[in-house]
Amino acid sequence: MAEKRDYYEVLGISKNATKDEIRSAYRKLAKQYHPDINKSPDAPKKFEEVQEAYDVLSDENKRAQYDRFGMAAFSQGTSTGGAGNPFQNGGFGGFSTEGFGGMDFGDLFSQMFGGGSRRSQSTAPRKGNDRLVRVQISFMDAIRGRKIELNNVDVERACSHCHGTGAESPNAYQTCPDCHGSGRVLRQQQTLFGVMQTESVCPRCKGKGKIVTEACHTCGGAGYQKERTTLTVTIPAGISSGRQLKISGYGERGVHGGPNGDLYVEVIVKSDPNFEREGNDIHIKATVGMAECALGTEIVVKTVYGEESVTIPAGTQPGAILKLKGKGVKDSAGRAGDEYVHLSIEIPKKLNERQKELLQEFIAEGKSSRWSSFLNRKK
Ligand SMILES: [Zn+2]
Ligand SMILES: [Zn+2]
Repeated sequence: MAEKRDYYEVLGISKNATKDEIRSAYRKLAKQYHPDINKSPDAPKKFEEVQEAYDVLSDENKRAQYDRFGMAAFSQGTSTGGAGNPFQNGGFGGFSTEGFGGMDFGDLFSQMFGGGSRRSQSTAPRKGNDRLVRVQISFMDAIRGRKIELNNVDVERACSHCHGTGAESPNAYQTCPDCHGSGRVLRQQQTLFGVMQTESVCPRCKGKGKIVTEACHTCGGAGYQKERTTLTVTIPAGISSGRQLKISGYGERGVHGGPNGDLYVEVIVKSDPNFEREGNDIHIKATVGMAECALGTEIVVKTVYGEESVTIPAGTQPGAILKLKGKGVKDSAGRAGDEYVHLSIEIPKKLNERQKELLQEFIAEGKSSRWSSFLNRKK
């Protein structure tokens, strides 16, 4: 299937076009490409394209869905075969808050894109759409890894009795009386320029050319059964925010006997007040007194795996960064980042008399030692 053009582009209007602008652009183009007027070979296709764009953009709901999801909102569902962008045909999951007792799938999926998809023009088996759900976990859970439960995950699978046909037995069929077995019917469409005839898939048999005479007793003829389940998702230790975990077969039901799509769980990691993560490296801040920096000392800092003591060498300067090798995040591939301690030096704001005295002495000592070294050099 050729890539579809943007509906706004088709009508030559801006994304903020008013209803009147949409209507007048449609009128103009429909007239230009109407097959009764325009005899060029691509006119019928152009006319259909204009008609389709107008169908969507003139309907407030459809337009809102299109603005949000693009062409995927009205996907004709040529299979993505699981490859490429999982969002292409899929719905968007909701956004959960962190849950400890599991997350309710119904809530997560409340924002999932629902209606609006057009009936497929083909009866070939194809894979169902992928689904996406986002879950949020804490910073430390991402470091250590955890299991989460997705509750009430509804998945539709081909019926075990009829294997998706909806018929009680292989003989429970007759030729479709509406299309006489061809699977296609002529449809009359009202346009601004009168009635147009188009051929389309037979709505009664959905293009199969035959209809079921005795419905399957297990699924009632639907061809599939709904299954409600709880999925346990293992989030690997060291996962970074935005990664997607694929759960095969838990997407939307396949069409015409095709396999189910997949479910993608996107993991969003919350930030932490102490640690900042950059890849597998961790950055933290620490403050050391000025005298300790001058003399050298040892401090205890947090790492994602517990506390560590760190030596501050004598003469450490403001803005110094100390590296703790291998003390960053360990990911599931066995790589470990480092921790970087960003030092700031604390200058006391208030001094008591004794401290002032000592610092005065310290200054005097500095001057006299410079003076004496000056004198020594003169000798
Ligand atoms: Zn069945
Ligand atoms: Zn039919």
